[in-house]
Amino acid sequence: MSSKKVKVTDMSNNQGQLTELNQADFLPLPPPYDKLELEPKMKPLTPDQRQRYECDLDGIAAVMIPRPKTEEEKKVLVDKFLSGLTKLFNKEDNWTFIQALLLTMEYCAKCQTCSTACPIFEESGGKEIYRPSYRADVMRRLYKKYIKPGGKFFTKLTGDDIEVNWEMIARLAELTYRCTLCRRCAQTCPIGADNGLVTHELRKIFSQEMGISVKQLHEVGSVQHIQKGSSTGMTPLAFKDNVEFMEDEVKERTGMEFKWPIDKAGADVLLLHNAGEFLAWPENPEAFAIILEAAGISYTLSSDLLGYDGVNYGLWYDDVQLARVALKHIETAKKLGVKKIVLGECGHSHKALTVIADRILTGDYNIPRESSLTLLADIVKSGRLKLDKSRNEDIYVTLHDPCNVVRLMGIVEPQREILRAISPKFREMTPHGVENYCCGGGSGFAIMPNTNFPDWRHSVAGRKKLRQVLDVFQDVIGPEHKKYVCAPCSNCKGQIRELFSAYGVFERCNILYGGLVELIVNAMTDIEKPFLEWDWH
Ligand code: SF4
Ligand code: SF4
Repeated sequence: MSSKKVKVTDMSNNQGQLTELNQADFLPLPPPYDKLELEPKMKPLTPDQRQRYECDLDGIAAVMIPRPKTEEEKKVLVDKFLSGLTKLFNKEDNWTFIQALLLTMEYCAKCQTCSTACPIFEESGGKEIYRPSYRADVMRRLYKKYIKPGGKFFTKLTGDDIEVNWEMIARLAELTYRCTLCRRCAQTCPIGADNGLVTHELRKIFSQEMGISVKQLHEVGSVQHIQKGSSTGMTPLAFKDNVEFMEDEVKERTGMEFKWPIDKAGADVLLLHNAGEFLAWPENPEAFAIILEAAGISYTLSSDLLGYDGVNYGLWYDDVQLARVALKHIETAKKLGVKKIVLGECGHSHKALTVIADRILTGDYNIPRESSLTLLADIVKSGRLKLDKSRNEDIYVTLHDPCNVVRLMGIVEPQREILRAISPKFREMTPHGVENYCCGGGSGFAIMPNTNFPDWRHSVAGRKKLRQVLDVFQDVIGPEHKKYVCAPCSNCKGQIRELFSAYGVFERCNILYGGLVELIVNAMTDIEKPFLEWDWH
């Protein structure tokens, strides 16, 4: 392992681990985590793991790629990679993304504005391999060498050559899982290059062409979702049982007794939750049910396969899986005859069904899709709920902006209009809105427990968000003050839960996290007891 500045061509060397991670290099955190010894320690891989899995990028094995045993195996994998690379630049194979990808491959002013924007590069203390343009430069060299006419000859002349071998490809596979696809880099690039897209497209080669993907995203996520009905493994029958359980819980917590609409044909709205909510945070779908019932919204849930789980993990690594899931969601809506689909508090389901799948949802399949945030803002502003913001008086609240909802879709104000109406102590993180920082769990990271990857996710990917949370509450950081990070996204909540648990944030600082609807219900005067159960976790 070298301490020299890592070059792009070093990706192909056979000298073992390319970069060493040292926690002392990371940017220091604010109090009460301003001493390194107060942070959780990152664990190295065991010798057995190092032997079994490719980890020669930075000593982390997020994807858990088995090391090939023979040179023949390596050659087969290299050939598949190059075949996948060719398809990425073929209009018939990649008509959805080729235009933006070509622009990114052709133009880069090397200004490094993207690096300054990237929380992973910055918080790691400037690790060269995490620079957004480092990953893009690897791909740009591949593009110039293998896709452009005469490339193999010209790249040697211009010094843009890169040796393609299994060592390089294995490192690149891991490197695609050191980026949360937050696209903050793309937003800041003065010429419109999209280094987040580079990560996405590379992940596609690994999954669609080489069968290399993260188990939790593919087998547990997409495949289980399609076969059983939910990425959680919840069957339609179990979903209905869960709804009955939640109806009882709502009655117990609020005194409100009502049946939740399931499979109600002709309802105005199909409400599509992330099914993880039913299991991990049932108070979120419960709060939705309370609000929609009180506001008199005509809506339904679905018990069809996939109809009760809005997640779409294909978004992060595989276009084919994305399309399969998106089409099932639309078919469910068509079958029920609803006027529109409303997406619950799940950022990536917003992006998958409204923005990315938009390219395949044409004609009959173009059923309107809306964010729950705009619907909720309309409900709150309409006066249909009896709200008293003083019921949230004792809680300092800040808002985490999920990248997919805010930066990608531009939904910035509705959630703020709601918070201003229900939370007297609402305050903004810096920066926020479209300039927000990712929670650190984007692009599937939040559900990837592999080897020592969670340590990296807490210490590097989530570091910026932890810093923002500590900064915004710095004047009331002591445990005597109740604080709440409102994160209207199931995936972000999963990451914040793990991040807070790793650093003991609730115990040390009394900072809770949760969704937006729970805070709305907490302000509803029809409900006697506070809906937020502060010590629930
Ligand atoms: S998408 Fe986000 S995490 Fe990935 S390189 Fe760009 S700024 Fe960094
Ligand atoms: S901001 Fe854009 S032009 Fe500048 S280095 Fe990054 S990708 Fe290249």
